Amino acid sequence: MMGHRSAESTHYFLVVLVVLSASMSLSLGLSVADCRLPECKGVTSEMPKGFSRDEIPQIVLVTFDDGFTEKNIKYYRELSKSGLKNPNGCPISFTFFISGENNYTFSKEMYNDGHEMASHTMSHAFPVASWSNKTYDEYRDEINGIKNNLVKKSGIPESDIKGFRSPFLQMGGDIQFQVLKDLGYVWDSSIVMGTDNDQGREQYWPFTLDTPLKSKLEQEKPGVSGKACMNEKCPTKSYPGLWEIPVNRWYDNNKKPCSLYDGCDQPNNKKKYVKFLKEALYKNYYTTRAPAGLFLHVNWVLTEPYKFEVLKQFLEEITEIENVWILSISKALEWIKNPQKMKNNSNFDAWKC
Ligand SMILES: [Zn+2]
Repeated sequence: MMGHRSAESTHYFLVVLVVLSASMSLSLGLSVADCRLPECKGVTSEMPKGFSRDEIPQIVLVTFDDGFTEKNIKYYRELSKSGLKNPNGCPISFTFFISGENNYTFSKEMYNDGHEMASHTMSHAFPVASWSNKTYDEYRDEINGIKNNLVKKSGIPESDIKGFRSPFLQMGGDIQFQVLKDLGYVWDSSIVMGTDNDQGREQYWPFTLDTPLKSKLEQEKPGVSGKACMNEKCPTKSYPGLWEIPVNRWYDNNKKPCSLYDGCDQPNNKKKYVKFLKEALYKNYYTTRAPAGLFLHVNWVLTEPYKFEVLKQFLEEITEIENVWILSISKALEWIKNPQKMKNNSNFDAWKC
């Protein structure tokens, strides 16, 4: 299984920060008349409820894929014990996507520290393309196997395991989403969004899959506005109430998109790298404050230790910025379902500790 990790690291280098053009707002032509929070939200980069920027928090989602090992736990412990706090004085929290090769004692420890555990399949197996063609039963067993393990081996309540991310972001189309719906998952975070170049770059708030998304092919047709699911195999049907935390594309200095299977150019020293990440965050912060995703693969930390220093410094610096909240996905989603003005955020129940 270690073989798959190292091979994966060459292909799967996922650092996603959301980058957004300032004033564009966009809908995908959804019929929004009956779509209302907290159960339903259309695809949009607009701020919720017509709030202004200064009235809402800047949520930052930090996630790590592939689970805990003897090798990586020291990094996660260091982050977890950093003492960094959100504006209400509670510790920051992350989301971990767990796959089969996981140390369940460590996932229990991190859960007890306030972090979220989500499913990332049992096998996480190669070939990558196989994830497009699995049967319903295979998907069900892959997705639910992790939940069962986290319940049995880590003692995490079943109701706290709410989310899923596809291995390699290689989705299984409608079968994957039907399984998630049938198994009672609350959210998925596998759909890549954003154009192939950084022109008209857009970032989207989490949304529900009530209305089918456009495919990349549809988006490319002349006269069709809006952005689409950019993965190879996307859901085509409606999954009412199932939330999607999109993997909004991020673009490097060469304007190349970074999401999956790519080696987007990253600054090669700590100072430049921290600046680069902060500038990307500011593009959210000073526009529509759509949640910014820093979606990391474990190898990003393990293979080049200076990147861990970058991450630590970035987190330290952004917790100093007014109204920046670093939250696990499910905690963030509670506010997104029930947005409230900032003055109330310190009393927002779901964010208390
Ligand atoms: Zn993975």
